Amino acid sequence: MTCCYHKEIVDMRHELHRFPEEGWTEFWTTAYIAKYLRGLGIEVLMGEKVISRENCLGRNPQLVAAGIEAAKAKGVCECLLEEMQELTGCVAVLDTGRPGPTVALRFDIDCVNVLESTDPAHLPAKEGWRSERDGLMHACGHDAHAATGMAICHWVKEHLDQLNGKLKVVFQPAEEGVRGASAVAASGVLDDCDYFLTSHVSLMAKSGEVLSSPINFLSTTKYDVTFTGRPAHAGIEPNAGRNALAAACHAVTQLLGISRHGSGMTRVNIGRLIAGEGRNVIPVNAKLVMEVRGETGDINQYMCEETENIVQGVAKSFGVDYKIEKMGAAVDLVNDAPLVAMLDEVLANTEGVTTVLHDINYGGSEDATILAKRVQSHGGQACYFVMGGTRPAGGHHTASFDFDESTLGTGFDVYIGMVKKLMA
Ligand SMILES: [Zn+2]
Repeated sequence: MTCCYHKEIVDMRHELHRFPEEGWTEFWTTAYIAKYLRGLGIEVLMGEKVISRENCLGRNPQLVAAGIEAAKAKGVCECLLEEMQELTGCVAVLDTGRPGPTVALRFDIDCVNVLESTDPAHLPAKEGWRSERDGLMHACGHDAHAATGMAICHWVKEHLDQLNGKLKVVFQPAEEGVRGASAVAASGVLDDCDYFLTSHVSLMAKSGEVLSSPINFLSTTKYDVTFTGRPAHAGIEPNAGRNALAAACHAVTQLLGISRHGSGMTRVNIGRLIAGEGRNVIPVNAKLVMEVRGETGDINQYMCEETENIVQGVAKSFGVDYKIEKMGAAVDLVNDAPLVAMLDEVLANTEGVTTVLHDINYGGSEDATILAKRVQSHGGQACYFVMGGTRPAGGHHTASFDFDESTLGTGFDVYIGMVKKLMA
């Protein structure tokens, strides 16, 4: 019944897969999506209408500039780039013109910094749709998410007369590092939404399995912490220096020693420490790339406060300056039971869905939670689900990541089932 849409998803996914773009640089991808949707006569919002510039987290201006150049080289026209205002992502609006709920669906569009496998056993390599860009790869399935969102817009446009209310489909930039959602939320584009639905294709579950109400999404905050000291000759007058490297090392051990929280899970990781200039110079610069997580927003907030205290205290004790930059954020999420019940009903009637699993531990973080919370805080309901897609390949964020594409058609049918119910 819906097979032409299924085929379209796969074709568009391969097209997107060939030209992956990392967070905040998805200029070609945004143009690809916008041109397709406008070609169907669908309204598409871009730039500051859907992205709050002040709330962009972890956006690197050099990468943005290079992304714009890469998009131009790939033939993206100046007028579209102008409309984007150096901000990636877009929102499709499909209005039936009749009263009814406003429903939001969200699909992420960015890639991961991974060099894609050339192994002939790796399907994209074998079939000729491997990444053209070394070091960048759709290794988390966001190409599939974007393609699914596009096909859903196509279907809805063609069935608008059978629906009521309004549909907003968010193509969100910079999910990796949980950087993009805060800016979409702050733009206010979802503030009139009654329902919010999103999903991830995942190797967490097998093909045919759907996790309809995962639990334990961890709230998280990503930080870059920099210490700035004062240089001095390490032999003649070390006392004149202020040692940023020493401060950073002390900060690391103290951060790892933050006390557990009695009310729930906590995490802290310092993934990188870059420091120092030379053997005989008192180190002036040190940078920590780190994150904290908590089972709830409050527990994560506790981790954030402890981090700030430690950084401040260490800086004072070593006489160095410090800067704490927030690079990403996600919150916890509790799916709304009535929406999960509706999803379960749809899943029970979707061909290709064999098993529905509840209350499975998600254990990671995902910035869709920020959008979900925003909709919930305005009285709406939200639901995040996971579509399984086994394939004996590498895991998420690895060079041989891939999944069973039959899950894409199934996922599309699930969304259409939900749209039909919500916009009946
Ligand atoms: Zn992902």
